[in-house]
Amino acid sequence: VGPIAPLLPVVGHDTLVPLVDGRQVTYSNLDVAASAPALESVAQRVAETLPLYASVHRGAGYLSQVSTALYEASRRAIGDFVGARADDLTLITRNTTDSLNLLAGCVPADPVSGAPGRVLVLDVEHHANLLPWQRLTDATVLTGGATVADTLAQVRDELAGGASAGRPYALLAVTGASNVTGESLPLAELAGAAHAHGARVVLDGAQLVPHRRFSLADSGVDYLAFSGHKTYAPYGAGALVGRRDWLDAGTPYLAGGGAVRRVRTGTTDWHDGPARHEAGSPNVIGAVALAAACEALAALDPAEVRAHEGELRRRLVGGLEAIDRVSVVKVWDDAADPVGVVTFTVTGYDPGLVAAYLSAEHGIGVRDGRFCAHPLLGRLGFDAGAVRASVGVGTAGEEVERLLAAVRALVADGPQARYDVVDGLWVV
Ligand code: PMP
Repeated sequence: VGPIAPLLPVVGHDTLVPLVDGRQVTYSNLDVAASAPALESVAQRVAETLPLYASVHRGAGYLSQVSTALYEASRRAIGDFVGARADDLTLITRNTTDSLNLLAGCVPADPVSGAPGRVLVLDVEHHANLLPWQRLTDATVLTGGATVADTLAQVRDELAGGASAGRPYALLAVTGASNVTGESLPLAELAGAAHAHGARVVLDGAQLVPHRRFSLADSGVDYLAFSGHKTYAPYGAGALVGRRDWLDAGTPYLAGGGAVRRVRTGTTDWHDGPARHEAGSPNVIGAVALAAACEALAALDPAEVRAHEGELRRRLVGGLEAIDRVSVVKVWDDAADPVGVVTFTVTGYDPGLVAAYLSAEHGIGVRDGRFCAHPLLGRLGFDAGAVRASVGVGTAGEEVERLLAAVRALVADGPQARYDVVDGLWVV
């Protein structure tokens, strides 16, 4: 196997991490599904923008105008990157969770009964794409099948059953790629099935957008939510992009300055458009950073990204499966083309201990636990959690090799340091 270089440089890739035996190693970039390090080009754009910002949307001063222009240009760049249709809105939010909560508050009630709108969701979802629907809409959670084909058939039947019983679904909420396994359901089929029965589709794009070129216009998907901090921008900004009518008719997500045309003590005339849901001073720097990340990803050849991450994933899965006592988790038997998210267990070792060992003895940061997907981990039999490694455009082949060597060493020799559980966390 030859070396694989990162496709784009990320900030911090040469940061030194001290190990328990006194050695130092460079930080390893294998936890991008949790939060990806920023691209160097993003960090540079942020540094260039910091001296420029001033009160956005609220001032006539020169820098206020620059800030407003930067914010609105960032909004357009983010929408363009995900193929927003001409009439779609791009809202700047805090993250995927924020975007999905916002949309959940805008799902229209049943026009006849006035009951909250029905939303269909699968049990494979991250809590961010489950709990908002359960809290704010009439949500039905389907237990998925063992294959993509069965799961798709279940979704179709449920959508059809709702429509023929006079209780049609308003929305199908589905992940673009599982944050546990990187697997996904075929989007075009899902969107076709939803639309055939009068429902819209919202895609949780948190794990899809950083890894695959996605287009709302081409896919027919109605809404997309994603996060900047998983898309090689820093924390604090995400987006909700999609059909305007529900957003313009929905209750404003935040009440406050900027969301209104006119207020009298007894009446409020709310804006439509993005301003309706973006009360308060917006995150200009976050939007600029996310737009810079979108532009950097847009400049890459999507086939090259797919090949890079696909090869890293193949090496990771192949290498892990070749190690005694290691199993790789999957949801479906027939999922095509998963993104670079790989969850595994090591029989005989608590996942928290595996993650602590990888960090303390090898300088490798990975995620352990139930990945905010408790229903799925429970159904698959992993209530005790698992370990997740993930790769992206900033990950090198050498980092995958280092992880595999570390897991081999754990299975062969056990941990070298002594670990204890303190406050529920494994520590040296
Ligand atoms: N959905 C998926 C598939 C995710 O992986 C995550 C983050 N783990 C989220 C939603 C939530 O993202 P955020 O924490 O940025 O709101």
